[in-house]
Amino acid sequence: MSKNKSEMLAIGSTIGIIGGGQLGRMLALSAAQLGMKTIIFCPDENSPAFDVTPNKIIAPYDDEAELTKFAKLCDVITYEFENLPVSSIKFLEKLKPVAPNSRALSISQDRIKEKNFLLKNEIKIANFALVQNEEQLKQAIKKIGYKSVLKTTTMGYDGKGQRIISSDEEAKQAFEELKGSDLVLEAFVPFEKEISVVVARNIGGQVRDFDAAENIHENHILKTSTVPANIDKITARRASRIAQQIVGALDYVGVLGVEFFVTKPDANATDQSAVLLVNEIAPRVHNSGHWTQAACITNQFEQHIRAICNWPLGDPTRYCNVVMENLIGDEVIDAHKNLESGMQPHFYGKKDVRKGRKMAHINIVSD
Ligand code: AMP
Repeated sequence: MSKNKSEMLAIGSTIGIIGGGQLGRMLALSAAQLGMKTIIFCPDENSPAFDVTPNKIIAPYDDEAELTKFAKLCDVITYEFENLPVSSIKFLEKLKPVAPNSRALSISQDRIKEKNFLLKNEIKIANFALVQNEEQLKQAIKKIGYKSVLKTTTMGYDGKGQRIISSDEEAKQAFEELKGSDLVLEAFVPFEKEISVVVARNIGGQVRDFDAAENIHENHILKTSTVPANIDKITARRASRIAQQIVGALDYVGVLGVEFFVTKPDANATDQSAVLLVNEIAPRVHNSGHWTQAACITNQFEQHIRAICNWPLGDPTRYCNVVMENLIGDEVIDAHKNLESGMQPHFYGKKDVRKGRKMAHINIVSD
């Protein structure tokens, strides 16, 4: 992308969004607020994002003819989830500006690449070992021990493609279930809490991050994000610094989510503040940043659009306390009947209610 600060996209430009889920939908709504047009590229004709913009292309993510047609209609291209073929993003990069870049996508969709990137930048993570066969699994268990987590290196989300293992028997069973793609064995982190930081960087290198959120997962799916997180100032500052470091190292443009485990320090460590281990990075607007819609001057969706258009970033200041709650599966049914003032609902308009499917979220604010 051009680094020329004068090349801000004009109001009325067209933003191409790859992916038509709720994140694409909310990005399109924010783009409209900023006077931008959007076009959604998604293979699923029932995509929630199609409800909010008239412009769409329904095609597989690797259809180069359709991607070319899409690129011709766009001034800038972005994406709303990371399980996309990197080759498609590289293909688009030759045609139009794409943000975030394909390097960030490629790193974040492969757990091994992601861990190596973090280690190279001296960012702490859980111990891990690559597992490509049964022999490597045995070696990995010797190195990491139990309890540990066996995960597929790619295509994992919301707890899919991962098993906690505590014995040889469980290890064998998990391996049988997950084998077929490369795996990674991670030490189980006895974390005190999970937090995340959503950070934005624009083409000119301006960086802004939102307050850390404290996240609770149920069945590996995010259930609530609470802000402020119950962490001390030093930990908050460290998390912010790590998030800023990551977007700098990736020459990143757009919004990125960083998930952390907060753990107790070793009893004999001289520094007795909490230790932060990065669990995962996501090159997109993030579920744990939805609270910004109700509590910040600029929310993460607007921030992402501003960043990729090379507009000045907005103010991430939080002006109230907030809890974001995901409504999953049939929790959405009748939720509109129980709304109270102080609740800001976001229903995604998904046709089919399915177990484990994110259907809506509600931001609940307080002083
Ligand atoms: P992930 O898909 O890696 O983000 O994992 C989803 C969730 O599983 C995390 O948010 C944690 O709650 C849990 N988890 C994943 N990896 C570990 C680990 N190494 N130790 C403890 N919990 C984990």
